[in-house]
Amino acid sequence: MYDLIIIGAGPAGVAAGVYAARQKLNILIISKDVGGQVAKKAVDIENYPGFEKISGPDLVELYKKQIKANELEVVIDEVVGIEKKDNKFWASVASGKVHEAISVIVTSGAKSKLINVPGEEEFSGKGVSYCSLCDGPIYKNKTVAVVGGGNNGFESALFLSNYVKHVTILEYGDRINADAENQELVAKNPNIEIITNAKVARIEGKVFVESITYQDMSVTNSRESVTEKTLVVNGVFVEIGYSPATNFLGDLVELNDKKEIVVASSETLETKTPGLFSAGDCNVSRYKQIVMASGEGAKAALSAYNYIRKVS
Ligand SMILES: Cc1cc2nc3c(=O)[nH]c(=O)nc-3n(C[C@H](O)[C@H](O)[C@H](O)COP(=O)(O)OP(=O)(O)OC[C@H]3O[C@@H](n4cnc5c(N)ncnc54)[C@H](O)[C@@H]3O)c2cc1C
Repeated sequence: MYDLIIIGAGPAGVAAGVYAARQKLNILIISKDVGGQVAKKAVDIENYPGFEKISGPDLVELYKKQIKANELEVVIDEVVGIEKKDNKFWASVASGKVHEAISVIVTSGAKSKLINVPGEEEFSGKGVSYCSLCDGPIYKNKTVAVVGGGNNGFESALFLSNYVKHVTILEYGDRINADAENQELVAKNPNIEIITNAKVARIEGKVFVESITYQDMSVTNSRESVTEKTLVVNGVFVEIGYSPATNFLGDLVELNDKKEIVVASSETLETKTPGLFSAGDCNVSRYKQIVMASGEGAKAALSAYNYIRKVS
């Protein structure tokens, strides 16, 4: 039996592993991969302290080195369910095994929701981005579109307007979902334009994004054909939310309406189940960033250590 199982090996899981290893715990990390979303980062990371610039794959290599240096055991597998019985946790994995531990930290992260239109995948990292905080400064003096008229979209547009010449927010619905405060800030900003009833049809370019085309759903003509409009843009920021990887947790945790984990204590990151902690993008959080996931991973590891010390 392990002292601690960590589910996920993205920034939160790796940080949790490093901190738990220094407490001399007997640890198993179970993850589908090492690096999580960082491994998918196509352009350089420029907002992680200590690195002026580092590519995603290079940061993942450093994670792997640190995992080895801390003698952390990593199993590449998918956790499909967790149970708590007799004050212990049992994590079942896709390959059929069941791993047992006194405490568990969930760092299973989240995936950005896709718009699933032609060009989205092709230009991902070449003008299509899912993180304005990460990639916004690259678009200095350029023209961009933000897809999504909720708070994420509005906050992205406001942040981007510090850098770019012009931002167009494209909202699928006929009205805006962002809260009043964000709407007020956007209304005061002459560089941001909002288009509602805009169903994105495709993203086009040669090497990098050059345009985004949407169907104007507000226009219906007699033949019921669709009116398409094209905006010339250098970047497209997709801000329509995240899908957290929390399905396998059953009723051991409380989830909000976005399926993010609601921790019972922000001080310890313990969930509603004693001994079960969670950290990083799978948790309720307005901002999803490497530095924040890493910090939460470290916090959860120290809390898990205190829990294990108390119960064993
Ligand atoms: C394209 C892109 C660019 C980004 N750029 C930046 C940037 O420049 N700066 C920045 O700060 N942030 C950036 N981010 C955001 C940042 O990557 C995330 O905030 C961060 O990776 C979250 O870390 P995490 O460990 O919580 O989750 P993740 O990175 O999502 O890791 C989750 C881990 O859990 C594993 N997992 C999930 N479910 C299971 C399961 N059932 N069983 C086993 N394992 C499981 C996954 O395989 C993965 O290893 C970017 C994100 C993307 C997608």
